[in-house]
Amino acid sequence: MKILLATQNQGKVRELQELLVDEGIEVLSLLDIPDWEDVEENGVTFADNASLKAREAVRRTGLIALADDSGLEVDALNGAPGVYSARYAGEPKDDERNNDKLLHLLETIPEEKRTARFRCALVMVTPFGEEYLTEGAVEGRILTGCRGADGFGYDPVFYLPEFARTMAELTLTEKNTLSHRAQAFRKVIPMLRNLKT
Ligand code: IMP
Repeated sequence: MKILLATQNQGKVRELQELLVDEGIEVLSLLDIPDWEDVEENGVTFADNASLKAREAVRRTGLIALADDSGLEVDALNGAPGVYSARYAGEPKDDERNNDKLLHLLETIPEEKRTARFRCALVMVTPFGEEYLTEGAVEGRILTGCRGADGFGYDPVFYLPEFARTMAELTLTEKNTLSHRAQAFRKVIPMLRNLKT
């Protein structure tokens, strides 16, 4: 069986493909779809945005399609940057400026109130229009500066108390075991198995 993950991010495709190797499921990405035009992600929740992308991907290809949308929610900022995580500091998308803006806004916030989470919504849509949602979340705290060289986005400022490391100090394998996205990906596997039978 072939499914489409509606992303151009090869890292995400690899992550899902690795989880599905024993299932006989091949994961295609938007790089395999000629003339794909980006869908406007104007939903107010991660699930809305994932659904918009997955529905368009099914419409365009007729394949079972999955799409994820994720971001950071900071409690002291009432859940911001949320669905605006990628472009928090404006266009063009820039991880370093996003982190600078976040750290600046949290300057006066004490450690115990710097709680935050990465959240991911993954939507799967079948060619019959059935839609399934899985989610994942990782709890942590925003540091007052950057630590670590791996990862991307807000990883260097996101501290995991259980591991005493930031997300950018984890290896890719460690991150892929615990991440919000990995959790959502793992939950979709039984649903895919059901669709195969
Ligand atoms: P996307 O929905 O996966 O494209 O994520 C949107 C934005 O959320 C990214 O551009 C990052 O700013 C942030 N984000 C999502 N997942 C992660 C992560 O695992 N680490 C750091 N930042 C992330």
